[in-house]
Amino acid sequence: MPGPYDIFVLVKQVPDQGSKAGINPDGTIDRAKAKRMLNPFDRYALQAALHTKKQYGGHVTAISMGPPAAVEVLLEALEHGVDRGVLLSDRRLAASDTLATAYALHKVVHWVGRFDLIFCGLQTTDGDTAQVGPQIAERLNLPQVTYCEDFAIEDNKAKARRIIEGGLQYVRSEMPLLVTVANSYHPLEYKSFRGAWKVRRLQRDPEELKKCVTTVDLDLIGADFERCGLKGSPTIVAKTDKVGEIGGSCKVIEGLAPHDMVRDLIKQSSVKEFVKS
Ligand SMILES: Cc1cc2nc3c(=O)[nH]c(=O)nc-3n(C[C@H](O)[C@H](O)[C@H](O)COP(=O)(O)OP(=O)(O)OC[C@H]3O[C@@H](n4cnc5c(N)ncnc54)[C@H](O)[C@@H]3O)c2cc1C
Repeated sequence: MPGPYDIFVLVKQVPDQGSKAGINPDGTIDRAKAKRMLNPFDRYALQAALHTKKQYGGHVTAISMGPPAAVEVLLEALEHGVDRGVLLSDRRLAASDTLATAYALHKVVHWVGRFDLIFCGLQTTDGDTAQVGPQIAERLNLPQVTYCEDFAIEDNKAKARRIIEGGLQYVRSEMPLLVTVANSYHPLEYKSFRGAWKVRRLQRDPEELKKCVTTVDLDLIGADFERCGLKGSPTIVAKTDKVGEIGGSCKVIEGLAPHDMVRDLIKQSSVKEFVKS
């Protein structure tokens, strides 16, 4: 059986939607005020990477770009069974749009080395563009399978089921390949005891941690910093508005027989006319 495979998975740290993230005057998210979490969509990418390793053998490297705190998502990935983490962190990346982000991430991929597969999430819960995966594939001149909800390898070729408008599409591809994983893929399995134990050990030993999670900057990966951050980002956020919460009230009708409850509901609601007709 072919394999083992070198598998990369891209994971992003995003503001926890449950926390009250503020907006900076320039329209960007005030990330310092928000609690942080692993982008929920990247949990499916992580599962696809780990499942592929389990099925066919290999080595999984999780890659992230973000501030130093983004190491947290790499440690979380390690707890789930990822072998290595690489964090690209550099102040010159601040305010990168998707063009600059994809440029920087493809340079990290080059720096990390040989790979057979790159798994990305479908989109993020903060930027929400779903552009980064496809842009990286273009930059690396790779075939790409987007909206993938099932993935396997057969005769050393990738086999995937992807969602298309109104149906499903079954595709095959040579590798190396980039795959963006839909949230209808299998949910991420629990952290392994071994992984959780490993991370606890790493957190107590900075030297060991450095062996498992490498932090790199733009100079180290040979990226042109003019193409990163604000300078490398043609997208301008003209204005950001906070969408107000949609208010609503709820009344629980209880203590009656079901047909009485329905009658009571009709009596109290604006659908009276419609129901009558
Ligand atoms: C003008 C402008 C200014 C901005 N300024 C800032 C800023 O100052 N700070 C800031 O944090 N954001 C900023 N952003 C947002 C930033 O551009 C996006 O968050 C980033 O480009 C990724 O795009 P996305 O979140 O839409 O990812 P998507 O394309 O929706 O993500 C798809 C997948 O790509 C991968 N991926 C995406 N981003 C990363 C990453 N960083 N690391 C690893 N994997 C990743 C993940 O697998 C993810 O599931 C700015 C955006 C614009 C337009």
